[in-house]
Amino acid sequence: MDLYRIETGHRVDLSAIDPREKSAYPNIRKGTSLSLLREMNSELSQLQRLLWADGRHALLVVLQAMDTGGKDGTIRKVFSGVNPQGVDVIGFGVPGPREIERDYLWRIHLRAPARGRIAVFNRSHYEDVLVVRVNNVVPQDVWSRRYEHIANFEAMLTDEGTVIVKIMLHISKEEQKVRLQKRLDDPSKNYKFDPNDLASRGKWDEYMEAYEDAISRTSTQAAPWYVVPSDSKWYRNLVVSRILVDTLKRMDLRYPDSDFDPSTFVID
Ligand code: AMP
Ligand code: MG
Repeated sequence: MDLYRIETGHRVDLSAIDPREKSAYPNIRKGTSLSLLREMNSELSQLQRLLWADGRHALLVVLQAMDTGGKDGTIRKVFSGVNPQGVDVIGFGVPGPREIERDYLWRIHLRAPARGRIAVFNRSHYEDVLVVRVNNVVPQDVWSRRYEHIANFEAMLTDEGTVIVKIMLHISKEEQKVRLQKRLDDPSKNYKFDPNDLASRGKWDEYMEAYEDAISRTSTQAAPWYVVPSDSKWYRNLVVSRILVDTLKRMDLRYPDSDFDPSTFVID
């Protein structure tokens, strides 16, 4: 999955990444993708168990996307095989009163995963250089220094044992139109429609620029960004699963040695 990883120092151009391409699984179709996803669901489940047993590391998965980009669906499909006790899913919305009184990383640090656990951030501190930047919630001199804060914060977390994976689900503006329209047409999806999403859609290009800056400036060896083509939901699920499975495999996790000799015990 290094295919979609943004190298440190590389200036990403999102317009050059086709949200419809499927080059990591060129011979797979939707039907066969499901059995492959099941396999990776169970691999992820076993790795999560090992992460917990090993107890030395945590995994933080940051998910970012434009509205309708598929963050919720990805979490549902990719983590469906994993023991719910080992995963915390945290959605970050507009900061509440206690949050706005403090620095923007306070609420993020509070929800960082404990050793042995996986935390999935549905939106994150990156909103503080995305929506906040595009909507001028704070002036440029305030948001522009945040890239460095974020890189340093993430470096601290990784130094202390948290492995970080950051994923942007990359959809096209055309695909967003289709998905927003479904939220209007399908009564069971009406609740997901937020008129504010149209305002964000109107600022698509500014968002892409903000994403490019955020990704380019904070993709590091320790906390890399992946830009995943996401117009196809099944393809996106496979790629995200693969990234997480590969990341956990690279962590060299092991079951701890027992401090007793099991053969000396007799259970009667
Ligand atoms: P949703 O994910 O659909 O529940 O929407 C959450 C909303 O909260 C989105 O519109 C985000 O842009 C917004 N949001 C998240 N973090 C921040 C932030 N730090 N400042 C302002 N808005 C935010
Ligand atoms: Mg929304």
